[in-house]
Amino acid sequence: MLNFIKSQLPTPVRLWVRSLTQLDHRDLIIWMNRTIGRKLPRRVKIDASSLCQLHCGSCAMRIYNYGDRGKGYLKFDDFAKFLKMNSYVREIELSNHGEIFLNPDLLKIIEYAHSKKVKLTAWNGVNFNTVSDEVLETLVKCKFYGVNVAIDGASQGVYSQYRGNGNFDKVINNIKKLNEYKEKYNSPLPLLNWQYIILECSEIESEIKKAKEIAKELNCRIFFIKDHAGFIPKDTKMIERETNLCYENKNNVLSRYTERNVPCVDLWKFPQINYDGRLFGCCNNTTKDFGVNVFEIGLRKSLNSKIVKHSKKMLMGKKMCEESPCNSCYIKNFVLDEKLLTKMK
Ligand code: SF4
Ligand code: SF4
Repeated sequence: MLNFIKSQLPTPVRLWVRSLTQLDHRDLIIWMNRTIGRKLPRRVKIDASSLCQLHCGSCAMRIYNYGDRGKGYLKFDDFAKFLKMNSYVREIELSNHGEIFLNPDLLKIIEYAHSKKVKLTAWNGVNFNTVSDEVLETLVKCKFYGVNVAIDGASQGVYSQYRGNGNFDKVINNIKKLNEYKEKYNSPLPLLNWQYIILECSEIESEIKKAKEIAKELNCRIFFIKDHAGFIPKDTKMIERETNLCYENKNNVLSRYTERNVPCVDLWKFPQINYDGRLFGCCNNTTKDFGVNVFEIGLRKSLNSKIVKHSKKMLMGKKMCEESPCNSCYIKNFVLDEKLLTKMK
């Protein structure tokens, strides 16, 4: 009977009804809030760990001695409380300035997120040197969505020049083991990317070619990125040919930012939360939090705090905010000069 009624409905109405039946409670919460003028982000970033066993030359946490973020990891109880308080969140990025696999609660976090249908990712990057078999299997069983593995080289000699204390063979073995679990469970997840930074030690044609070959064998997409400290390769033509990178605006490291990819957009669409709940706003900020704790007062209240609202207005070029953490950030003036965020709402 119900099917008969459905079949009599005009197509647009039928599609509308179908999309309504596919919604879950999270969409309804977001939609209801939107109708009364409150925008809630579906995606957040929570730093699962600021701890790391490597010593990379230009690691922000090493240079600033962990800044205001401190050393620590996301506790399972805080994670579970966060999901209960903010049940509309459906995607969480866990990696930022540390190695998520050093978090002793990670296994429980992944299982719990899976039970709540929350998508987890580690697109900001992992070094993948230390991962237990149990965690590798859980990544596959619980459909962890995607991981970028940072490997700047195709041999121990080159890799370890930047990734101090890192072990190239261990990383490759962990990828192989993960692939075995993916095969065992017949799952394409987690999606795997090999992220190769072009640094002074890694701008070697043979190494780049070899990395591409190994990535192919490992069924990993490989992509190359520029060094955020602004390193310019000696042979830019070769690098551009082999990696698809472009070094046209050689002298301006900020020129890579657009209104879409500048980290400040996180404040609106993908807010960054520290492992202890303090709001840092974006993935770039390590110097000062926004003075609110998301685990204590919830995400909506935190994002509606005065300091967040005023900081957004400042980045949109409307009004300065003396107490904003953004004032000590080198990206702020570029955003204002280029009027990158004037259209944000
Ligand atoms: S792997 Fe990442 S977090 Fe660890 S030292 Fe290197 S840059 Fe820093
Ligand atoms: S100005 Fe800096 S700290 Fe502020 S949101 Fe942008 S990138 Fe983050």
